[in-house]
Amino acid sequence: MTTVTDSSHPLLSVRDVSVRFGGIVALDGISFDVQRGQICGVIGPNGAGKTTLFNCLSRLYQPHAGRITFNGEDLLAKPQHGIAAAGIGRTFQNVALFPAMTVRENVQVGRHCRTRTGYWANALRLRSVQREEAEVRAHTERMLDLLALQDVADTPVKNLSFGTRKRVEMARALIAEPQLLLLDEPAAGLNHEEVDGLRQLIADVRDRFRVTVLLVEHHLNLVMRVSDQVVAMNFGRKIADGPPAQVQADAEVVRAYLGTETA
Ligand code: ATP
Repeated sequence: MTTVTDSSHPLLSVRDVSVRFGGIVALDGISFDVQRGQICGVIGPNGAGKTTLFNCLSRLYQPHAGRITFNGEDLLAKPQHGIAAAGIGRTFQNVALFPAMTVRENVQVGRHCRTRTGYWANALRLRSVQREEAEVRAHTERMLDLLALQDVADTPVKNLSFGTRKRVEMARALIAEPQLLLLDEPAAGLNHEEVDGLRQLIADVRDRFRVTVLLVEHHLNLVMRVSDQVVAMNFGRKIADGPPAQVQADAEVVRAYLGTETA
């Protein structure tokens, strides 16, 4: 499926988005844009609202106020199950793969939002189904090659290291050909070497797949090294937005992190 793109506006535009949980204001009128092809890191101390923002973007939460525009369209008008077809892929903090299934099978599953044939066509094994299956297989092999997963393609996911599982999750998201890839704390649970591998992987994925990346992450060093743009949050608000060096030097960002453990 080819998605129509229009480069005259930002790929993602978040405007005055607010989310409350009872008396707690988790997001307080946050606004920012992400341009096509950029890696945008979102940072902030514990409780800043990063996960809440991520959940709004993946349509798990409905904001109480504000707008989110993706590719010029109202994202909040799309159902949660429609975001993959709209061009948004995501990975999960705790890795959400099928543990007993092989790497190849897990990656293949990610292609299904791009298949069109329905129940009867499948039941009758129509030509269109066979053609589609061949396409899915070809896409899967290409993705396994690109993410260097061929050696473990027939291994059940449960037998893999956490770092490799994250790469499988990335492959599963990318096979759907997203325009925007949402990464939810991908460095969580990784050791120093694996974080460095992850940094290269994210940069590589952006370059090869020309995908825009939004990275919600605690690991400041990773965010600062891989991002083109960093949005810093505190108490549900944006406190800085710009190139990494500028955000890192921002007085309010430094204040927000003082006394807070930073990776
Ligand atoms: P962390 O880095 O610790 O994951 P965060 O930046 O992701 O934090 P959020 O998890 O988005 O922050 O939380 C923002 C605020 O909203 C916090 O005060 C949190 O306690 C509150 N909050 C988040 N989710 C819920 C919920 N489902 N119900 C009630 N309060 C919530």
